[in-house]
This record gives sequence, structure tokens and C-alpha cells, in this order.
Amino acid sequence: MALAPDRLGPTICIGEILAEVVATTVGSGFAEPIPMLGPFPSGAPTSFIVQCSRIGGSAAMIGAVGDDAFGQLNIDRMTREGVDVSGVNIDPDLPTGTAFVRYRPDGTRDFVFNLWTSAAGRLAWTDAVDAVVSRAGHLHVGGTLLGVPALWSMVECAAQRVRARGGTVSFDPNMRKELQSDRETAARVSAMLAMTDLLLPSGEELFLAAEMPQQNGEEQAIKHLFSLGISEIVTKRGAQGSTAYQVAGDATHAPAFVVEEIDPTGAGDCFGGAYVATRRLGMPVDQALIYANAAGARNVTRRGPMEGAGTQGELDAFMAGTERVTCST
Ligand code: ATP
Ligand code: MG
Repeated sequence: MALAPDRLGPTICIGEILAEVVATTVGSGFAEPIPMLGPFPSGAPTSFIVQCSRIGGSAAMIGAVGDDAFGQLNIDRMTREGVDVSGVNIDPDLPTGTAFVRYRPDGTRDFVFNLWTSAAGRLAWTDAVDAVVSRAGHLHVGGTLLGVPALWSMVECAAQRVRARGGTVSFDPNMRKELQSDRETAARVSAMLAMTDLLLPSGEELFLAAEMPQQNGEEQAIKHLFSLGISEIVTKRGAQGSTAYQVAGDATHAPAFVVEEIDPTGAGDCFGGAYVATRRLGMPVDQALIYANAAGARNVTRRGPMEGAGTQGELDAFMAGTERVTCST
């Protein structure tokens, strides 16, 4: 089934809202004082929902922040971008979650997180959350939540409620191999896949989700995932662009835009937020894919996880002024 139209109700995200501080020099770790830039509003679901709203989709966030400046930073940003924050709880005791990030020379990252031991981990089903879920038209879920039992029960309940009113669900596995070796998390991934309409994997996540070795090839993995009831799968390929598979239809590939990558964090979330919003607003797959590629590419040109999220006009200008990779996989 196609994604529920925007008019059914907002796209909602559940999950972490963080303040992020990024090292301005490439190197290893945080063992000595280094120049850093931030705080930036952050958190994968937060970046997703901001891009979703910025491109014109109706959007609402469910999460928790502390009663502090980092929480306010996020609430202000989301509010400014038109995201409904009535489902964001302000925890009176715990601080807003934080992430410190530094890029190593090989492109991998060093992180210091305070995530589930911050206000983010104390997210609960309040009346305000209930009200947002009651009118949602689509739920987007990131895989990191699946490792947190209390949040999983919220996700499961929200997904059931949204589907019961004719809404749809998207899932970005954001999954590492280690996650699946934990039996409970693996069971939650299966339960999540059974409720998913649109899957947004990147790299080997497609095969992890399909529980298949890469040697089987993408086609096999896609076929298996369709047999679970998923109707649309969009694989993110970084600087190689993206490919959309529909249960009834051919694969559509969209080449990446050629950009200088300053900060790759948030590309997948901006891609997903733009894709879900444009599809829900009625855009065909090939066009939505180009906007999503543009949203991901534009975002990696700015430092901070959502600083490059674009409006439709900004993305149109970006597309008009940026070349696309001519030869891609
Ligand atoms: P994340 O690190 O946020 O989890 P991801 O692995 O989910 O990212 P990516 O494939 O890295 O997702 O990025 C999503 C999309 O953004 C890509 O499909 C591509 O369209 C665009 N993109 C990301 N990085 C680049 C890049 N260096 N050049 C051009 N486009 C890019
Ligand atoms: Mg990802």
C-alpha cells in the first residue's frame, strides 16, 4: 500500500532529542582539549522530523528533553521549522541528552554519548503523547529504539494505533550486526518489519533486515522483505545515490549529487524525512527520490546533523546548481 496521504495527519517520530558538539579538527578521540563547535540540535529522529517539516510535510515529534538550555535549543528549532512539539516532554530532573563527535582520518567517528541515561531515556506515554498519536497519519521509526525495552513498547503501541486509523509506518533499521545477536532485539526487528510499509536501509542493513548473506544479492533480499508485507524499499547508498523498489513496479535508481562532504551525520535522516514527506504529499517515486538525494547531499555540506536540511525551494536551487554522478552502481 502507498504511504498514507499527508491530509490524514502528521508524520510522527518517536525518539532521542540531543544536543551535539562536533570537533572541528579530524583526529582520534577526545584525550586532550580540542576545538569544538556546537551545540547543534540533534538526534536521528529529530533530524528526520525537521527535514520532513521543512520540505512541507505536516510533522510532530514525540520525545523528552531536560529543563535546560539544550532542551530549549531543540524545542526552538523544531518550533521554528513548524514541527508540532506538543508530544515533547520536559523532564524536571534529567538533563537533555548529548553527543560529542569527532571524525577520524578514515571517515569513521568517535562518539561520547549520554543518550538513554538522559531525559531521552525517560520518555513515557503521557496524555500529550496519546493526543499526538491519535491524529497521526504516519509513524517513522529508527532502529536505535529497538534496543531499549521501554521505548519499544511505545513504538509498538504507536505503530498499531497509527495503522488502525489507516496510517502507515516507515522503518530505518540503522542496525549493526551486534544488535541482531541480542535475541530480544532481533525479535523486535522482526516485529517491526511485520508492521513496516516503507523500509529505508543503508548498506548492509538490507541484508541484515532480510537475514540473508550479501552473496544472495539484492533481488533476493528485496523479494523476501516484500513477502513480509513491506510495499516500498529505498536503499541509501551514500555518494552512490539511492534506489527505490516497489512491490508492484520496477526499481528506480537516482544518482547522487556531487558535493564536498563536510559532515556526513544526518544524511540518512534528511533523506528519509524528505522522501516520506514528498511521497505523502503525492509525489511519484522517481521525483521523491531526487528530492531525497538532494536533501541528504545538501545536509552533508554543512557541519551539524540537520543544518543543511532544505525547504523545497532550497532543494530546487541546490539541484539546479549541483551536478549529479554520471556513472553509478
Ligand atoms: P547516516 O549516517 O545518517 O545513518 P545513512 O547511511 O542512513 O546515513 P547515506 O547513504 O549515508 O545514509 O546518505 C543518505 C543519502 O544522502 C544518500 O542516499 C545520498 O543520496 C545522500 N548522500 C549522503 N552522502 C553523500 C555524499 N557524500 N555525496 C552525495 N550524496 C550523499
Ligand atoms: Mg542510516
